[in-house]
Amino acid sequence: MREVSETFPAPEVLGTDMIAVPQGADVSLDARLESVQDGIWVSGTVSAQAVGECGRCLDEVRLDVDTTFNGLFLFPDAPREDEEDESEDVHEFDGETLDLEEIVRDAVAEELPFTPLCEPDCPGLCDQCGARLADDPDHTHEMIDPRWSALEALAADDPTEKKES
Ligand SMILES: [Zn+2]
Ligand SMILES: [Zn+2]
Repeated sequence: MREVSETFPAPEVLGTDMIAVPQGADVSLDARLESVQDGIWVSGTVSAQAVGECGRCLDEVRLDVDTTFNGLFLFPDAPREDEEDESEDVHEFDGETLDLEEIVRDAVAEELPFTPLCEPDCPGLCDQCGARLADDPDHTHEMIDPRWSALEALAADDPTEKKES
């Protein structure tokens, strides 16, 4: 058995459009490599920090990802059982390098939320003016009937010309 512990820059963006570990960000990997009959069984943990945008208020969201992964790398000449095995986490091992990238990418992607939020109860943005409601929870707008607001605008334009009845 061999253990590998390594931190390397992410070779590519790991994640989704909404949230991802940026390319070049530190990815820490602890992997155990065990020889099995037809290949190498790899298991371990990966940790990295994903950066994204809150799905409600568009604020930056930073999320520590810490997850496990495992997979089987089969020698090219290893006998394949049947078609069903294709769906499992089975990869090919060329005898020289174990390409953990796909396994790690899948593990990280699985761990990321579909809609990241800066806070679980992020109130989002005001639908009137776009202000962050978290900054100003009591934020309200006077709801003026549009017909009256036209009159108000007239009055504001020239308050001296108010007719006296
Ligand atoms: Zn938010
Ligand atoms: Zn507002």
